[in-house]
Amino acid sequence: MNPGFLSLSITLLSVGCLLGFFLRTRRLSQQEISYFQFPGELLMRMLKMLILPLVVSSLMSGLAALDAKTSSRLGIITVTYYLWTTFVAVIVGIIMVSIIHPGGAAQKENTEESGKPIMSSADALLDLIRNMFPANLVEATFKQYRTKSIPIVKSNKAASESTTRRIIIYGVQDENGSNVQNFALDITPPPEVIYKSEPGTSDGMNVLGIVIFSATMGIMLGRMGNSGVPLVSFCQCLNESVMKIVAVSVWYFPFGIVFLIAGKILEMDDPTAIGKKLGFYAITVVCGLVVHGLFILPMMYFFITKKNPIVFIRGILQALLIALATSSSSATLPITFKCLLENNHVDRRIARFVLPVGATINMDGTALYEAVAAIFIAQVNNYELDFGQIITISITATAASIGAAGIPQAGLVTMVIVLTSVGLPTDDITLIIAVDWALDRFRTMINVLGDALAAGIMAHVCRKEFTKDGDEVPLICETK
Ligand code: ASP
Repeated sequence: MNPGFLSLSITLLSVGCLLGFFLRTRRLSQQEISYFQFPGELLMRMLKMLILPLVVSSLMSGLAALDAKTSSRLGIITVTYYLWTTFVAVIVGIIMVSIIHPGGAAQKENTEESGKPIMSSADALLDLIRNMFPANLVEATFKQYRTKSIPIVKSNKAASESTTRRIIIYGVQDENGSNVQNFALDITPPPEVIYKSEPGTSDGMNVLGIVIFSATMGIMLGRMGNSGVPLVSFCQCLNESVMKIVAVSVWYFPFGIVFLIAGKILEMDDPTAIGKKLGFYAITVVCGLVVHGLFILPMMYFFITKKNPIVFIRGILQALLIALATSSSSATLPITFKCLLENNHVDRRIARFVLPVGATINMDGTALYEAVAAIFIAQVNNYELDFGQIITISITATAASIGAAGIPQAGLVTMVIVLTSVGLPTDDITLIIAVDWALDRFRTMINVLGDALAAGIMAHVCRKEFTKDGDEVPLICETK
């Protein structure tokens, strides 16, 4: 790990922020802003390009390299650990929001979106399961399943036929009691808007489906013995070459990061318009993330491995910086791999399994933020949550974070599951949109940190199954 990396990161962030705030004063046109954002866009495109080959090749070759007993043991321990830390993150969020109590009487933002249900909680949970089993693998590389809520507005004609018109006639009298003028007030209810659920797709890779498919393939390849070797060798080779592309593209990152951050500052709404309550809400989320990311997760790492978590975290600083710049744990995946293998020397076979699964289902930061946001919305609405509802929030926030894709602001979409589970208005998501772009960056950092520390912990817990020099060669190839 380059010791100057921390100062380089701080410099890049500062240059990006300064450049962004300076250019805001220049009042650039939308088109000029989009040209300015181009180098940052290139960085995102490079990273996204690597996600698919990396996830498929690492999971297939990583799981094929393990015997059935080891892969199921590693799988069970990893998934249990992920669920546990996510749940702990939610509890931290609930404690923080109950102590700071950021909601009170915040003004609801009146946006166009307000009042439109996005989708029901049941639909969202079913979509999560559907996405685990993509009907078309090729489509899963660029689209995921998402139920859409379509508004059906009864036409005025239909409304007037089906609804009795209600008109109040009233008159104004002079002091002698004779009518001076009559008025008619039409109080017919407005046409009813019904929402209908329709199947649909949304842009963005269905990483969950691809992870499930690749993991299953990897396990099966591992059980096939020699007949599986050609495909395993192909995946290993693909994995190696993707990591080499990552090593080359790293040179472009500092440049891309500056433009990514400056570009975001250029397009954001007026920062002074953010309300006080919203500011407290943002502070609550950040405090929760700090407690979870800087105390709880490192302490878990220390107690399990007896190693210094600071040294481990120093090794993944580059990945954390990319997470901050891109707001995407999936896009950060290639860099997390690189850091873990090169700086922290985590067993390659462990990283190949733990990281892609983590980037898909382990989002501690997202879960924490979803719990805080839901309770904040309840506070804003003066809605007293009982103990059962708090438990419901903790379970659904955990589920919603599993369902969120590792892409920018995915957590905002899955929050509908949490809100509807306790009867909170889903249109109040608009309350927190103004600060979400910033909070997303911090929660993505914690998501990536959680995955990386998990890989370090799994490497320690499963060290007996993973002999030191068995690293490159999968067990099934030993018969060659
Ligand atoms: N941006 C987050 C991630 O990629 C997901 C979210 O919370 O919106 O990990």
